[in-house]
Amino acid sequence: MTQNQSTGTALITGASSGIGAVYAERLARRGHDLVLVARNTGKLESLAGTLAKSTGRRVEVLSADLSNTGEVKRVAEFLQSRRDISLLVNNAGVGAGSPLLEADIDAMESMIALNTTAVTRLAYAAARAFVARGSGTIINIASIVAVAPELLNGVYGASKAYVLALSQSMRHELESKNVKVQVVLPGAIATDFWRASGVPIEVLPSEMVMSSADLVDAALAGLDLGEFVTVPSLPEAADWDRLENARQALRPNLSRNVPAPRYQVAGSGTSTGVSH
Ligand code: NAP
Repeated sequence: MTQNQSTGTALITGASSGIGAVYAERLARRGHDLVLVARNTGKLESLAGTLAKSTGRRVEVLSADLSNTGEVKRVAEFLQSRRDISLLVNNAGVGAGSPLLEADIDAMESMIALNTTAVTRLAYAAARAFVARGSGTIINIASIVAVAPELLNGVYGASKAYVLALSQSMRHELESKNVKVQVVLPGAIATDFWRASGVPIEVLPSEMVMSSADLVDAALAGLDLGEFVTVPSLPEAADWDRLENARQALRPNLSRNVPAPRYQVAGSGTSTGVSH
């Protein structure tokens, strides 16, 4: 379905392939104009041409290497300056297949720059702009490894745990300001991600692998349902709620003026606050 009136412009990072390219197509069909961000200008322009033709939407291309601080700043400034942008899909990211001990540290640092630093700077830019404009939506693409870091490379898992934690804190701060935050935790999705990570997707059991189309449709259904966390594979949303409730239940005891009884050594004076 195409609409003449734009439902607002969506800026999508990592839009040249995989999950980002599907978001671009689905959001254009929902009436959004688009700004597509990634490094591969040729791929972005080809997708922009196809989508503009098939949906009648305005589709712009912004080439940037988001592992480069200067280029991330340029995209962040663009995002803040363009009042028509009402949706950010913080999607660009890379993975790694090798275990921590075998992974190249320079590649890990570059992954941290893209998966966390760029995500943070763009989320900040969007949050400030959307609060000033009175509304907006930020979709952060994390991964199920945010809660299962043992499954793949540990730095990748840690980078996605960062995206989850950042989203939790952003939601807490922004929900009263009419800015919606959604964090999406995909499982294994059939995209170039796996080849680029050095792990052929064929090594995974096919019942674990979802298509990028199904993933994005489920994530957008979650957004429409008003979900904050969307785990497209998880059959029972109540399972996530249990994890979240357990996390919240820790809160009253996470910061206290004395160590827990099991850490109090007899005669140390810790329990009385007296030091010897
Ligand atoms: P993909 O097909 O490899 O797409 C990655 C996208 O990120 C591409 O558009 C790529 O475009 C862009 N990108 C990579 N490096 C970049 C850089 N330095 N600067 C700007 N853009 C860059 O992989 P995908 O599966 O769609 O991944 C999208 C997101 O989903 C990532 O955050 C990933 O961690 C997450 N995810 C994926 C899976 C999975 O199994 N596939 C599971 C959970 C989460 P250019 O090469 O043109 O720059």
